[in-house]
This record gives sequence, structure tokens and C-alpha cells, in this order.
Amino acid sequence: METAKVNRPVNVRRPEVMEQVAKDLAHFQSPLVECIRLQGNELELPGMRLFLAESFGFCDGVKRAIEIAYAACRLFKGRRIWLIGEIIHNPDVNARLDALGLLHLPWKMDDPAYDALTAEDVVIMPAFGVPVSLRTRLDARGVTLVDSTCGNVIKVWQRVRTYAAAGVTSIIHGKARHEESMATASQSLGKDGKGNFLVVFNDADARLVADYMNGRGDKASFMQHFAGSYSEGFDPDSHLAEIGLANQTTMLKSETAEIQSILRQAVEERDGHSERFHMFDTICGATQDRQNALFDLLEKPLDAMFIIGGYNSSNTTHLAHIAAKRVPTFFISTADCLLHPQRIRCYDLEQKKEVERTLPAWIKHPERELQIGVTAGASCPANVIEAVICRIAELCGCAEL
Ligand code: SF4
Repeated sequence: METAKVNRPVNVRRPEVMEQVAKDLAHFQSPLVECIRLQGNELELPGMRLFLAESFGFCDGVKRAIEIAYAACRLFKGRRIWLIGEIIHNPDVNARLDALGLLHLPWKMDDPAYDALTAEDVVIMPAFGVPVSLRTRLDARGVTLVDSTCGNVIKVWQRVRTYAAAGVTSIIHGKARHEESMATASQSLGKDGKGNFLVVFNDADARLVADYMNGRGDKASFMQHFAGSYSEGFDPDSHLAEIGLANQTTMLKSETAEIQSILRQAVEERDGHSERFHMFDTICGATQDRQNALFDLLEKPLDAMFIIGGYNSSNTTHLAHIAAKRVPTFFISTADCLLHPQRIRCYDLEQKKEVERTLPAWIKHPERELQIGVTAGASCPANVIEAVICRIAELCGCAEL
């Protein structure tokens, strides 16, 4: 059993390294993307008009996390610097950090790699945060901790801790195996560890919960359906008496609103009032801005939409889902996915894997001016967006932008 000690994370964004870090981060910028932004988010190419969403790419939380990782590498040069999982979900960013010599710790509570850590080691906690038990474990090893947890994630933690203190079960709208939801779930156990949580992924899950609350469910199948998504000892007969909704910061706003409405109505149906239902919208502003900007962009008569970002990025995946409902959509991670005018490698949302698709000949031989939309998730750097735009231009026969 490891003993918890107070081990405050160190501030690495110090003046002596920040000037150099700013130069390091210049790699992720793009003069071309800035220029398109300044000229009204439109770019004319031969036979094609390209529209960028009003809001796309790096959010402040991601920028800060990357800055912290670079600053830690500079400040603690010569020491072993570990990162738990990925700092954010973007392959280009993560490859750059790997090249700096960052070592990786797996996102697994019981992994023996944590036992080998010593006070000489530096450990960076990612933007999604880490579960309480993992933090306790790191504290016990006495490592130098660097914390890049986003402030918006910490706000969700505060909310679920408040629920726990009041004996309210947290219903977390999120993906049960996503790092952020796992960290939030651990916080919802509260200070004494006696709190409860249930993670619901979508409105179908919320309907199962609503039905159970009103006597229309079977306990064994309920527990089986949600296996791995609830706190130890969770009992739907007693722990759904008073519930509080919170969400992973990067979920789909409309889906969270639907889940809220389903659960509120379920409590009203059961109790005759909604006093034992609590709600706090914890979708972060950056996620919301990117979703809203995409909805605006989709008002245009687009021929296709390119969504750029890591395939394991939650907010980017939601952008792809939004676009795919309205227009042919290609969810790609880098410019290399655009193989040639008729072949593209992209993420298939149904099959949940990267596939190769044949495109109609429209990119190469458009019969009219094509209208293409482009956006990117909150963890996608501008240089990757620039590379995609340049590749689209190249496929249109435009050698240089
Ligand atoms: S998407 Fe939101 S919660 Fe996630 S890092 Fe960015 S600002 Fe923070």
C-alpha cells in the first residue's frame, strides 16, 4: 500500500525557458492558415473554393499542455522525463514530443513501470488529467510532477466532487475508456471514496437509465450493459435516487442536451418533481466553438468536408459525426492521407478504423467550381492544416500557394 505525500506539481513555464519554447512551438504555426483566416476564411483554387471554419484547430488548453511539455524538456534536460499516455491526441504533436526524448508511461493503474520510478524522474500529467489513484501512486514515488491538466477538466472535477459530497451519484456523459472520463470518474468518488458514478455514452444509454429508474428495467441486464462504466459497489436501486449530470468536456453539445432532458424527465416521472436531478454543462467553450463553427460552415452548399485531427481525439470525432450527417466527409489525420486525386485514406466512423476510399473524379476534373469545407479538432496544429490545404491545392493542379 503506497502512502500519499503532498507532492505539488512544479511550474515549468519559467522565463529562462519560455523564450526558447516559443521558438519550438513556431513549428506548429502556419502563415498560410493565418492568411486564409485574415481574408475571411476562404481560399480560391483552380476549379475550387475552399472554406475554413471560423473556429478550428488548437484550443488554449492544448497549447498550454504542449508548451508545458516543451518547457519540462528544456528545464529538466538530462533527467528522465516521462509522459503518461499521450499529452493530447494528435499524431504530429506526439511524434515531435517523442523526438525530444520523452519516455512513455502506460495509462494503466497497475502497470509495474510506475514502481520503477524514483525521485530523479520527472512525470508529466496529460491535458485530460489522471485518475486520483494514479496521482497518489506518483506522489508516493516522490517524482517531480508536471501538471498539464486543462482548467476546463478541473472544473468538471470540482462539479463531481460537489455531487459526491452531497451524496449525489454522478452520471458522466462520456466514453468510459477515455482518459478524461476515467479521471473524472475517479474524482466523483469524493474525498472519502464513497461517492458513485455511472458513465453513459449516448442517449440510448440514458434511456436505459431512465427506464430502470421507473421500474422498466432488469437489474442483471442493466449491470451487464454498463459493465466497466460504474463505480465499485454501484447499485442502481439505491444509487440512482439522486443524480447529477456532468460531461466529458469534448462531447457533442446536442447529445448532452438530449441526455439531460431524458434524465430530468425520468426523475420527474418517478418523483413528481426534478429536485433530485442536478445538471451542470461542462462541455468546454473551445469544443462548443468548433462545433458551432462547423454547423455554420455546413450551411454552405458544400461538395465535401475535410475534418483533420487524430482518430482517437474525441472532439475531432464529434466534428466528423456532425459533418457526415450533412455532406460527404473525409476524416483524415495528415496530408499524407490524400494519396492521389482519386484515392484517400480516411477514418471510417462505422468501422472505427482507417480505410482507403476511391473518390469521384471531381477533384481532378471538376465540371463546376467545387466548394470544399475544412476544419480541424482542438488538438490539431495549424502546420498540419496547412499541409492538407497545400495537398488539396496540389491535387487541383495548383503547384504553389
Ligand atoms: S478541448 Fe477544452 S477541455 Fe480539452 S484541452 Fe481544449 S480547452 Fe481544455
